[in-house]
Amino acid sequence: MSSLRFQVLKDAMNRKPLFPEEKIRRSEIFGSNVFNQNAMRQSLAKDAYKSVLSAIDHGTKIDRKMANQIAAGMKDWAIAKGATHYTHWFQPLTGGTAEKHDAFFEPIEGGGAIELFGGNQLAQQEPDASSFPSGGIRNTFEARGYTAWDPSSPAFIYGTTLCIPTIFVSYTGEALDYKTPLLRSLAVVDKAASQVAKYFDKEATKVHATLGWEQEYFLIDKALASSRPDLVLAGRTLLGHSPAKGQQLDDHYFGSIPERAMAYMRDLEIECMKLGIPVKTRHNEVAPNQFELAPIFEEANLAVDHNSLLMDIMGKVGNRHNLKVLFHEKPFAGINGSGKHNNWSLATNKGVNLLSPGSTPQKNLQFLTFFVNTIKAVARYEELLRASIATAGNDHRLGANEAPPAIVSVFIGSQLTAVLEELISPKKDSTEDESGGVLDVVSKIPEILLDNTDRNRTSPFAFTGNKFEFRAVGSSANCSSPMTVLNMIVAKQLQDFHASVEKLKKGKDLSKDDAILEVLKDYIKSSKHVLFEGDGYSKEWEKEAKKRGLSNNKTTPSALKAKVSKEAIALFEEMEVMNKVEVEARHEIELEAYTMKIQIEGRVLGDIARNHVIPTAIKYQNRLIENVQRLKDIFEDDFQKIAKEQMELIKDISRHIAEINSKVTAMIDERKKANKLESSEKKADLYCNKVKPYFEEIRYHCDKLELMVDDEEWPLVKYRELLFTR
Ligand code: ADP
Ligand code: MG
Repeated sequence: MSSLRFQVLKDAMNRKPLFPEEKIRRSEIFGSNVFNQNAMRQSLAKDAYKSVLSAIDHGTKIDRKMANQIAAGMKDWAIAKGATHYTHWFQPLTGGTAEKHDAFFEPIEGGGAIELFGGNQLAQQEPDASSFPSGGIRNTFEARGYTAWDPSSPAFIYGTTLCIPTIFVSYTGEALDYKTPLLRSLAVVDKAASQVAKYFDKEATKVHATLGWEQEYFLIDKALASSRPDLVLAGRTLLGHSPAKGQQLDDHYFGSIPERAMAYMRDLEIECMKLGIPVKTRHNEVAPNQFELAPIFEEANLAVDHNSLLMDIMGKVGNRHNLKVLFHEKPFAGINGSGKHNNWSLATNKGVNLLSPGSTPQKNLQFLTFFVNTIKAVARYEELLRASIATAGNDHRLGANEAPPAIVSVFIGSQLTAVLEELISPKKDSTEDESGGVLDVVSKIPEILLDNTDRNRTSPFAFTGNKFEFRAVGSSANCSSPMTVLNMIVAKQLQDFHASVEKLKKGKDLSKDDAILEVLKDYIKSSKHVLFEGDGYSKEWEKEAKKRGLSNNKTTPSALKAKVSKEAIALFEEMEVMNKVEVEARHEIELEAYTMKIQIEGRVLGDIARNHVIPTAIKYQNRLIENVQRLKDIFEDDFQKIAKEQMELIKDISRHIAEINSKVTAMIDERKKANKLESSEKKADLYCNKVKPYFEEIRYHCDKLELMVDDEEWPLVKYRELLFTR
């Protein structure tokens, strides 16, 4: 067997699970490394503590004096826990998290040293922004960017570093990160939803979005993964023949968790507990070596930070266990990819989930208001929502019969469908009493008892009992992108709703409840086209959706256009989530990221095909040729008949080699053409439509050769080895 492949397989198979010592009660360590309200109460003077709380709850500013006090308390707390450094922790548009560590240590005159960390260091830093993507916002001569403390997400200690969650903006104030627009969208949805929530509860003064993500991932032995250039450089396999057994037996989903994976999960969960990430669920996913992790939902900003932090920790804990964590949306062809369901809802300061159907008609009117408005928002802005999850990786999943299609529709289940029907066309007798007068309509809203089994896994945006579940989000995504758009479009919708209700109340002199119902009825009728209960994977739905006018943007470059349409920019600006410069810069960055991903994949594939696959095939072919020649020596007369199969094989191999060679050359030519283009939009289009199609073709021939060439000679770790070694 090829020596490297043999070596790494042996390593992988000999590995033992590394269970962490776990005598600790998880409830005791939960949040122990977080500067949460408990820690603050103990470490801060009353004034300082109150000013942080007020910043969290009402977004008030913290003055310099208070910032100094808070910093001092935070520093003492962190140093007592063994921290030596601090960092502003942020989420630039590269997709990962960023940190630059500074020591607390500061030398003083006379040779000694003190630990220094004041309000200035806490509140603001100026990292050099020139190496982070800015989409052209920042001219190269103005490299400065600012990170600024976000008090709504608590500081935490990871390793020996105090991490302070921050936003990241350019010198001129434009957002250069994921968090800034998210915070703005949370503010605007708070304002719009509170105004509407007040119709039902005068004391509802604040509404926050809640998010519970479900993170899917693959675990692959590190040695095996490191031996494959495609996994190392592109995060996914670019070739590899399907194993005889894949996921067809469905024996992995919810199956017993393999020991090494279990050891990893336990270690990871302990880290999460310390950091206050409330992870709750773990299980095997559909594909071999695929798993899922889900926390209890939290306020959306915190949940986003926790997901970004988690993804970082997952990789680090993986290293300890000799496992590589794959977050790519489609690491293996023919095997399910990974997603990240975003469960979303709205909750008031009184702890009421606004998407939770109640047992009284009045509560149900509140539920229906937020339910129908969310549906209407999605109906209006489905294309923008699709754009918010567009990446090169996610293009492989959407519409590939394992994840929702690229068409955004809403599933609500048969019971709620019936409720909405009943609302717009009530049976006659139910709205009139015997005397012919109109009854209080609200009392006619049926009791809604939801049957949770009513689920449709093929829907990208499904109502699941007391929340909406956005299922089309990719596993490697930063949840901010979809959450920012969702909050914003719901906010816009609720603003419009409020205005319409007020107008009806005044204009038609309707009661509040009647006005609300009237507007809702109108919304139900005008958003019907986005509701779909059938099989989202089917061809018929594609046709039907087209008739209904729903978008179906299958590739990232085409999907992203919706983000920079005139209407989208106007909406982002009106809702003060992003200005035109920010929207366009982001679009630029996303296109560039797309192009670079495809470019890297193309290079890696070309390299593997020419430098690994072809030489191996030739080596094997030479063995065949030698064999044929020997046969000729022995069986002079019968030789043609006896060596027939070998000679066919030699020809086949030559044919595949020739195909690979010419296709790699053609792909490189297309890449060169694309690289010459100035416009990043056109460049991404070419990479999508001219370069990428070669991947499948080149792969086809490489995979054929994998089946022909002696297993001992094949240099790349095979699918069955990647997926079934554990
Ligand atoms: P599934 O069946 O899709 O795996 P679950 O019903 O177990 O999902 O819930 C998935 C996620 O939904 C969990 O992370 C949970 O915390 C989250 N969730 C539950 N209620 C809410 C809510 N009100 N807002 C946001 N997320 C929620
Ligand atoms: Mg789910």
